[in-house]
Amino acid sequence: METSLEGIRVAVLGGDERELVLIPALAGAGAEVVAAGYSPRPELAGIKLVATVAEAVEGAQVIILPMPGTDDQGVVRAIFASEKLQITQEVFGRLAPETLVIIGTAKPFLRQWAARFGFRLVEIAEEDEVAILNAIPTAEGALEMAMHMLPITIHGCEAFVLGFGRIGQVLAERLAGLRARITVVARSRAALAKACAAGYSTCAFTDLAGEIGRAQVVFNTVPALVLTEAVLARTAPEVLIIDLASAPGGTDFQAAQRLERKAVLAPGLPGKVAPLTAGRVLAAVIPRVIRENLG
Ligand code: NAP
Repeated sequence: METSLEGIRVAVLGGDERELVLIPALAGAGAEVVAAGYSPRPELAGIKLVATVAEAVEGAQVIILPMPGTDDQGVVRAIFASEKLQITQEVFGRLAPETLVIIGTAKPFLRQWAARFGFRLVEIAEEDEVAILNAIPTAEGALEMAMHMLPITIHGCEAFVLGFGRIGQVLAERLAGLRARITVVARSRAALAKACAAGYSTCAFTDLAGEIGRAQVVFNTVPALVLTEAVLARTAPEVLIIDLASAPGGTDFQAAQRLERKAVLAPGLPGKVAPLTAGRVLAAVIPRVIRENLG
């Protein structure tokens, strides 16, 4: 059953193509949507568009910030905005208590504001429903990059997948479909057993330096430094490293540069490679999050 948002005023601050799916879905569920950071366009017909954050949040029970959120200065990612969109203490300090603020991942300052000013902050990027569904476009985007950047086919190539969580599992399965030779590197015995049961070679992080020399492509999903200088030094000179973990990634990029290894950090793939799909994920999840949190 579709969640009803009848009578709820929602401010959407900035965003990208994903919000062009989300905003009509919110309005379709009955919310009164005000959006900042957009000029008129067909997808937003009937939506109230305003120029500033202050105008948008006036009287809003719910404020939605984009999945990538803001930078450390509060500047909101808003690819359609003609002017900079920035959240400030002055405006957020005046929010009614219990205002619900929904964001992909918040910077520490926003968490501090939530504690200080009393609004409720919900970060959805780590919710399983969002993360599992976003693992699909992330894996597809990683494969697209590998195909583009490698001089060889994925078929038959030695691919290492570091981490066997939501993205690691989907990616390994897609690589297997393309007939790569896959080694999964994980820290827990359960993850290694699961990878073994799925038919992949496995390796513990303690053995990584000894094994990584055969890798032609390495996909990292671990948000901690695992591709250290010592490990990178044992990779083949022609290896390609695609680091999918959230910034700063799990690769010592300076060491990679010194060692002349090709290593790239690849953030935000769902929004880049499949914004419509990623927008539909938000349109499915956010109305439920609003209902659950507004009671
Ligand atoms: P996840 O399900 O939590 O998986 C993370 C994996 O990393 C797990 O296997 C975890 O092992 C392992 N891990 C965590 N810390 C570790 C450490 N210190 N040493 C060794 N292994 C460690 O996360 P996910 O959903 O797959 O996402 C992975 C990363 O990608 C996150 O940083 C996420 O923010 C990011 N992300 C990137 C994109 C993109 O477009 N590039 C899109 C979405 C998400 P345990 O199970 O043992 O904890």
